[in-house]
Amino acid sequence: MALFNKILIANRGEVALRILRACQELEIKTVAVHSTADAGAMHVRLADESVCIGPPSSKDSYLKMSAIISAADITGAEAIHPGVGFLSENATFASMIEEHAMTFIGPSPEHINIMGDKISAKKTMIELGVPVVPGSEGAIDTDAQALALSKEIGFPILIKATSGGGGKGMKVANNIDELENALRLARSEAKANFGNDQVYMERYLKKPRHIEVQILADTHGNVVHLGERDCSLQRRHQKIWEEAPSPALTPELRANLGNIVTKAMNKIGYRGLGTLEFLFENGEFFFIEMNTRLQVEHPITEMITGIDLVKEQIKVAAGLPLSFTQDDIQFKGHSIECRINAEDSKTFMPSPGKITGYHTPGGLGVRVDSHLYLGYTVPPHYDSLVSKLIAYGDTREECMLRLKRALREYIIEGISTTLPLHSELVSNPDIKQGDYDIHWLEKHLGK
Ligand code: ADP
Repeated sequence: MALFNKILIANRGEVALRILRACQELEIKTVAVHSTADAGAMHVRLADESVCIGPPSSKDSYLKMSAIISAADITGAEAIHPGVGFLSENATFASMIEEHAMTFIGPSPEHINIMGDKISAKKTMIELGVPVVPGSEGAIDTDAQALALSKEIGFPILIKATSGGGGKGMKVANNIDELENALRLARSEAKANFGNDQVYMERYLKKPRHIEVQILADTHGNVVHLGERDCSLQRRHQKIWEEAPSPALTPELRANLGNIVTKAMNKIGYRGLGTLEFLFENGEFFFIEMNTRLQVEHPITEMITGIDLVKEQIKVAAGLPLSFTQDDIQFKGHSIECRINAEDSKTFMPSPGKITGYHTPGGLGVRVDSHLYLGYTVPPHYDSLVSKLIAYGDTREECMLRLKRALREYIIEGISTTLPLHSELVSNPDIKQGDYDIHWLEKHLGK
């Protein structure tokens, strides 16, 4: 089976560049698409061809399925890589691509649909024997139903949007008095963000870590896991710092969880890359959701396994079998990723603008995945992620020391970034010890 000749990258920013790099190493031609605001972007400059698909607003460009599919048609692309965000978890888009006799680089539309709805994802996991967070079995329709269920689940309770994402549509109720209001707020936030106000309830865990497992499956029945990532350092349920392996897991816990997950994915015949997210508390794992795409934090898994996840994702989408088995995957060393956003590091207000000074760190064990360059203007229309600084070391200690010196070297001028926050984190005693949970960062920032 042959690989593709040409791939269209339906995304922007650092992830578009990440996919472009994988394509070039596989000797696959690339088509970049861009909005008018991104005409000078790095992914456009480096691609073999580019097509302008619309004005700055995402809904008229990066989310416009017909424009993207037309661009693929015109340029003769055989496959479309959706990247992260935008249309990456849109089953309609995946189906449309297939109807146009092109390949969607991702799982089947059916699996995107099942996992995209958090209730059906949880139901599926229960059937597959994967442990989930205790909570309502389905959607909550009435306040009376919520009240009755709250007695079973016990407070505090988390109300979540069934089609949620990016931490939106989530509200905590600490007691019965807060329940009604939390329901109302979660519903209206869900409606505003996802056009769907359906919510469900879960026990709100007090000190969990966020631990997710990376899986990769081909179309020949092979599924492997590539270990876990600890993404507990979050602000407003958004990841800021990720590391692999988790400072909290033992090889036994890792192997057990990996086993459960690969068996489950095998049973449903999943294909491509996927991430199963869990909360981990008192030695127990609880599934919360599955992402049916590449993750922002995938580089740390690449660093400790030596496997290029995007190249593998493209190969399995082309129908090639995996060239390695679970036993071939060795975890070596430690890796940490810092998400660098164009935001003020204290107020987190967006900070778009022109880059007037730029110097990236380098040296052994340092990787920078970024689309920034001197003179580039960060547009105000999109996600604020502008760079990912990834450090690798033989041990966690070495990784942290490397990260510390890399943060010292990194210069981004003209805009505010979250670099100062990361410099603070890398020297914090709790972080040095690996002693943190999902609430740590917000508590720390509140001090
Ligand atoms: P989203 O799709 O919006 O990212 P997730 O279900 O992945 O939502 O949850 C995002 C984050 O919210 C988790 O990483 C965790 O920090 C927190 N969270 C989710 N469910 C719970 C829960 N039951 N108890 C405590 N925290 C939770």
